[in-house]
Amino acid sequence: MIIKKAELVATAVKKNQYPEDDKKEIAFAGRSNVGKSSLLNLLVNRRNLARVSGSPGKTRTINFYEINEEFRIVDLPGYGYAKVSKSVTENWGEMIEGYLAGREGLLKVVQLVDIRHTPSAQDVQMYQWLRHYGFDGIVVATKADKISRNEMMKCVGEIRKTLGLSPEDKVIPVSTLKRTGYDKLLEELDRLLEE
Ligand code: GDP
Repeated sequence: MIIKKAELVATAVKKNQYPEDDKKEIAFAGRSNVGKSSLLNLLVNRRNLARVSGSPGKTRTINFYEINEEFRIVDLPGYGYAKVSKSVTENWGEMIEGYLAGREGLLKVVQLVDIRHTPSAQDVQMYQWLRHYGFDGIVVATKADKISRNEMMKCVGEIRKTLGLSPEDKVIPVSTLKRTGYDKLLEELDRLLEE
């Protein structure tokens, strides 16, 4: 896939702010600071489409980017930032569940985890939610430049084990710094859109 056009078409905190048509959507979820904005910017080849956070956890909206006037990439708010209050955390849960439940065009939710760390309890919860709503696993392991090739297998194994992935679930290591892995992710998106 070549992303020729990417445009922010909606910023939402509640359902009536979502785009109304049932265009296909692929959503991205992950902990604050996992590298989601950097990856989305790399994917759409724009430096600052998704804001790279100076202050993680601040963006609390669901952002809809229309790609090639054909489908949407949906940037779900990051979770797990220690400094946000409990009410914000609860609101976050409602926001994500509100989106996951019954969104017509939603094909897949890509979950991002930091390749260096064992997924957190919240990563596991997120993954279980996705399963609950009928999405199977596709995980992007970010910041792959921070580990050696030798460590890669071990780290990916740890992610698989902790999230409880099935053998057929994919884990795609990416580095936005080295610009590696995202071609694989684009291929995967192509496959999803063709299904
Ligand atoms: P978000 O909160 O998930 O949107 O994360 P950001 O995209 O804002 O990134 C959080 C931090 O991780 C920033 O300081 C980025 O520069 C850094 N970062 C993101 N991707 C990578 C990567 O692939 N490699 C390395 N080394 N750092 C990264």
